[in-house]
Amino acid sequence: MKSFECKDIGVNCGWKCQAENEQEILRQVEEHGRKVHGMQQLDPELRDRIQSKIKDTQAA
Ligand SMILES: [Zn+2]
Repeated sequence: MKSFECKDIGVNCGWKCQAENEQEILRQVEEHGRKVHGMQQLDPELRDRIQSKIKDTQAA
């Protein structure tokens, strides 16, 4: 499993997500960014930062 938290990229936000793979994380982040942070889309630079912060987690 992979996980990502908004605060990992310096956003003051407690949101976190888990998914099977990076593509799914990015999809969830994009949706969250749109709804909560008013981002229309992830630009390539932000996408790179997010990908660099995605962590491997043990499946529960
Ligand atoms: Zn957030």
